[in-house]
Amino acid sequence: MTAFIEAASPHVMNTYGRVPIALERGQGCRVWDVNGKEYLDALGGIAVNTLGHNHPRLVPALQDQLTKLIHTSNYYHVPGQEILAKMLVERAKMTNVFFCSTGLEANEAAIKIARKYGVDKGIARPEIVVYDHAFHGRSIATMTATGNAKVRDGFGPLLDGFIRVAPNDYQALLAATEGNANITAVLMEPIQGEGGLHPMRAEYLQQVRALCDERGWLLMLDEVQAGMGRTGKWFAHQWAGIVPDVMSLAKGLGSGVPVGAVVAHGKAAEVLKPGNHGSTFGGNPFAMRAGIETIRIMEEDGLLEHAARVGEHLKAALRAKLGVLDGVVDIRGQGLMIGVELNKPCGQLIGQAAAAGLLLSVTADTVIRLVPPLILTEAEADEIVERLLPLVQAVLAA
Ligand SMILES: *Cc1c(COP(=O)(O)O)cnc(C)c1O
Repeated sequence: MTAFIEAASPHVMNTYGRVPIALERGQGCRVWDVNGKEYLDALGGIAVNTLGHNHPRLVPALQDQLTKLIHTSNYYHVPGQEILAKMLVERAKMTNVFFCSTGLEANEAAIKIARKYGVDKGIARPEIVVYDHAFHGRSIATMTATGNAKVRDGFGPLLDGFIRVAPNDYQALLAATEGNANITAVLMEPIQGEGGLHPMRAEYLQQVRALCDERGWLLMLDEVQAGMGRTGKWFAHQWAGIVPDVMSLAKGLGSGVPVGAVVAHGKAAEVLKPGNHGSTFGGNPFAMRAGIETIRIMEEDGLLEHAARVGEHLKAALRAKLGVLDGVVDIRGQGLMIGVELNKPCGQLIGQAAAAGLLLSVTADTVIRLVPPLILTEAEADEIVERLLPLVQAVLAA
C-alpha cells in the first residue's frame, strides 16, 4: 500500500502536486495515514471538514440517511432541500436557494443569474465586475472570473463579459464601470482565500452594496470558503452588516459531503425559471442530510462563537510566537480562516509540515493558510503554533 502510494498513481491523472502521504482515518482534528502516523489537521480538507472527522453525531445521521435514500432525482420533490434551504435563508436573511454539489457550480449559477437578470432588463451583453487575485473555480466561466493567470493560462478562448478591478479600491471600481450600461453584477469573495487570505474591508463592502443598489446591479458574494461559520459568523459578509443579492456556498456546507448552494435574495431570487438551470446530483437526499445536520450540530454546539474565540486565540498565539520573526510580513484573518504571510515563497512548507505531523496549505506562494475544522480546541490551536514555529524559522533562515 505504502510503496504504491510513494510510487505515485499511474492511473490517476496527474493534476495535483501531491504530498507523498495517504490518509486513512480521522477523529476530531486528527488524521492518521496508512502507516499509522498521526497528523493535526489545520487544513480541514481546505475549509471543508467543518465538524472534523468521524463526528459522533454527524456520522450516525449520515448512516441513517444511507439506509433510506442516497439519491432520487430533481424530477421529484426532495424534502431535505426545503429544510436546508429554509435553514440557509433564515441565517442569511435572503429568499431562496438552488442546490448543486461544488463551489464552481454555485458560482456558475450566480453568473447565469447575473446574465439572465441583465438580459431580462434588455441588456443583450451583460458584464460582471470581478477582482484581481479572485478565485471562483476551474470551469470555463469561473476560471474566466478568476484573477490568477496561472489558473487561466492555456485554456482560452475565455469568456467575454467580465471586467476586472483591484480589491478594496472604490475609486477604481467607479472608474472601471463609468458609463458602462452593460454591467449587471459585482462578484467577489468577502475574504479572498486562494488569492492569499485578503479580506475586503467592511467599508468597501458597504460602499459596493450601496453602489449596486443605486445602479441596479446584483451584489454577488462568493462565500464558498469564508461562509458557513468559518469566520465566526454564518457568512463573512455579516461582519460588514450587509446582505448580498446572490451568495455562493459549498466547501464547509456538508462537512465533507459534496454540497453546493447559491442563495438568492429579492429580485435575484426570481430570475431562474423552470428549465433555466439544473443539476443531476444537486440537492440529493444524502447531500441535504449532510447540510442539515452540519448546521444543526454547529448550532447545538455553539460553533460560531467557538470558531470566533478559538480563532482569536490562534491568531494571538501566532502573533506572539511567529509575528516577532523577521520575515513574517503579516498575520491576518477572521475566525478560523487565518493567513500567515512570509516575505518569500514557502510552498515547500506543505510537505515539510506534513512530515512534522501538521496539515496546512500555502496560497499565493507566500501565505500559510490555516482553515482547520471549527471544532478545533484552544489546546490544539497552541499545538498548531508549536509545530509551525520551527518550520517557519527554518524557511526564513534558508
Ligand atoms: C474552493 C473555492 C471555489 C471552488 O470550489 P470547488 O468546489 O472546488 O469547485 C470557488 N470559490 C472559492 C472562494 C473557493 O474557495
